[in-house]
Amino acid sequence: MQAVRKGIKFDKKKLDKDAIYVVNTIHKAGFEVYLVGGCVRDLLLGLEPKDFDVVTNAKPEQVHQLFRRSCLIGQRFRLVHIIFGRRKFIEVATFRRGQAQTKKTGIIRRDNCYGTLEEDVMRRDFNINALYYNPYKYEVIDYVGGLKDLNKKEIHMIANCKLSFEQDPVRMLRAVRFASKLDAKLSAEIKTCLFNQAPLLANVSPARLYEECIKLFHNQYGFKVYQQLEKYGLLLYLFKQTQSNDFIKKALLNTSERIKQNKSLTPAFLFAVFLWQAQNMRFSHIKKQQRSVFLARVQASEDVIIEQIKQVSLPRWLTTKVKDIWLMQSKLEKRQPQKKTRELLKNPHFRMAYDFLLLRSQSINPELQPVVDFWMKAQL
Ligand code: ATP
Ligand code: MG
Repeated sequence: MQAVRKGIKFDKKKLDKDAIYVVNTIHKAGFEVYLVGGCVRDLLLGLEPKDFDVVTNAKPEQVHQLFRRSCLIGQRFRLVHIIFGRRKFIEVATFRRGQAQTKKTGIIRRDNCYGTLEEDVMRRDFNINALYYNPYKYEVIDYVGGLKDLNKKEIHMIANCKLSFEQDPVRMLRAVRFASKLDAKLSAEIKTCLFNQAPLLANVSPARLYEECIKLFHNQYGFKVYQQLEKYGLLLYLFKQTQSNDFIKKALLNTSERIKQNKSLTPAFLFAVFLWQAQNMRFSHIKKQQRSVFLARVQASEDVIIEQIKQVSLPRWLTTKVKDIWLMQSKLEKRQPQKKTRELLKNPHFRMAYDFLLLRSQSINPELQPVVDFWMKAQL
């Protein structure tokens, strides 16, 4: 049943002017068009949306013709990206219906069937993500009780939960992410399905899981996400070599702080933290047969990363950084002579390796405190 909530005006500063321009242009061309998904959800909660998605009854080719700087993308479903800068684009999708062509695993492979707004609702994941905002009428359209769920801070699946996770297991990660971000409760049905269906994540491509990992942990609520992933047995399908420890907690809380302070972040740091203990264990094992400590470290790093990319693919630039952070630890664990100290300070990855050492000293390796002081003074 459709519910329309009228008179909803959002703070202009929170609305992306490019997204509004896109909506207005499509509207003026005579099509139905809305902001949809996470941006409406976040605006209603007074949060700053991460991105703005637009949905319309215009076909991708028709949208493409309206914008000079736009391109058609996507194999699984055709979408239009309207380009506003080197890294900025607004994604426009056409209303879609149903789920088509599934493989043996049940995972959706192609679902490029256009539909109506009502049908488009049914292909989305959670009620709170199926709200459509009409910025020129100031209306929110809600077919599935998303507004009520937002008020109660509850997350319910639109369709049958078991099937929905079978069709796209990444929805399990999304459920946990939104629950943590919004401080919302997962429905009993979702919780049960998470416990039962976690192994389905093994069917998701490592490349997609990498994208999801960034979304899961590069935010202000990463530690909550981590705890939930562990609770529902999902962590095992992202980081099978990782065992929880205080270092991981400290690093995730530190990431939140850095975001609050607008400091730079690299995903390499968290991957290095998550895999640090596994790398150490592997090192202890290899050292028994390998006389060179350095070569044993290099081999241990390599082995752990090879295991990791079977689950979550990591770009080469990232694994290079991870290995550098690890290899620099043994150098930073000692006070070095002046010449060597100067050399290490010039290493482009010094700062990251030092931060890594600092967090270790504040969690699993308190004995490193004196050497942290040494490196802190060396930087002055
Ligand atoms: P955020 O951008 O804050 O991560 P979001 O909900 O906007 O959250 P997006 O990935 O930007 O997430 O997707 C936009 C919308 O597309 C979602 O709100 C949801 O309606 C739909 N959607 C995205 N991914 C899926 C999925 N895997 N299954 C079903 N619907 C999805
Ligand atoms: Mg979004």
